[in-house]
Amino acid sequence: MKTLKQAFPEMYESGRLLFDEPLAAYSSFKIGGPADAIAKPESQRELIDLLLWALNSNTPWFILGKGTNLLISDKGMRGLIIGMENYHKLTRDENFISAFAGVSLKELCDFAQEQGLSGLEFACGIPGSVGGAVFMNAGAYGGEIKDVLYCSKCLKPEIESLTSSNPIIHFRKEEHDFSYRNSALQRLGMIHLSSVFQLMEEEPEVVRQKMQELQDQRNDKQPMDMPSAGSAFKRPEGYFAGKLVDDCGLRGFRIGDAGVSEKHCGFIVNHGHATAAEVLELIRYVQKTVQDRYGVTLEPEIRIVGEM
Ligand SMILES: Cc1cc2nc3c(=O)[nH]c(=O)nc-3n(C[C@H](O)[C@H](O)[C@H](O)COP(=O)(O)OP(=O)(O)OC[C@H]3O[C@@H](n4cnc5c(N)ncnc54)[C@H](O)[C@@H]3O)c2cc1C
Repeated sequence: MKTLKQAFPEMYESGRLLFDEPLAAYSSFKIGGPADAIAKPESQRELIDLLLWALNSNTPWFILGKGTNLLISDKGMRGLIIGMENYHKLTRDENFISAFAGVSLKELCDFAQEQGLSGLEFACGIPGSVGGAVFMNAGAYGGEIKDVLYCSKCLKPEIESLTSSNPIIHFRKEEHDFSYRNSALQRLGMIHLSSVFQLMEEEPEVVRQKMQELQDQRNDKQPMDMPSAGSAFKRPEGYFAGKLVDDCGLRGFRIGDAGVSEKHCGFIVNHGHATAAEVLELIRYVQKTVQDRYGVTLEPEIRIVGEM
């Protein structure tokens, strides 16, 4: 079996295959130890070959979007990280936009705005990638990815499927089976390649104004100037996580450099040099306090990954 470097010499020489790469640079929390290896495919062929290499060599692998919903361990991640940032294409056909997984939601929303297409305004301030957003059914301000998604293309990470004559798996809208921050892609362990979004024609200026309004609301209420991974906890049925945390007197509460945001108690922020261990301890402390006081279980929305 060839090593990664031997199997992908071109990727290595062009700087798209890196070893012992600190993952803090790939995380909006600015936390995370080294990845054994991170590869950044530019094409579907490269992505499939990387997955086949990992599956054939029994190497653990992980798909990384923009790293805006992750708490990456201080020890980093073992195996192969596949970063989707270079898997990137954005096109329009009538009132449909097709976006590859590595496109950022901001680019997608800006493109829709310039093209005079409405529907994605809710997503303009969500800092992830299209792949991460479809996988997570990202949402804000009353909108969710499920409202605008038309169809997706995915890969099933199994040798038989990846080596078949047509490895692409098509998901129609209803087959995504979206629910709150969840999707069939997540449950089936699919790899998202691209999605088509169905939008409505609108004056670009009207779309721009709506996006600006929502961005202003976000800047006003959320700690956008501090490293975080967004809302730390899912919304518990019938409650708001941030309010429960605030009512427990935990606004600004810190463990080391990890703190409950002063601005929005649903966020945990990094005050400078927070470790994953500190964030995890804070998450557990908040969960226990809220459970003891209100009997409500807070489930992390942040995905905790890597060697703990
Ligand atoms: C300041 C801030 C504000 C935020 N506000 C919101 C908000 O309003 N609403 C909201 O929903 N979220 C919000 N988030 C969280 C985050 O931006 C979203 O969950 C986003 O969809 C994650 O996308 P990502 O590309 O960063 O994914 P990552 O964090 O890189 O990954 C998240 C998960 O998706 C998987 N994944 C990523 N790409 C793919 C792919 N191509 N195929 C298969 N799996 C994939 C990863 O393996 C991982 O399990 C916020 C985050 C921050 C930092």
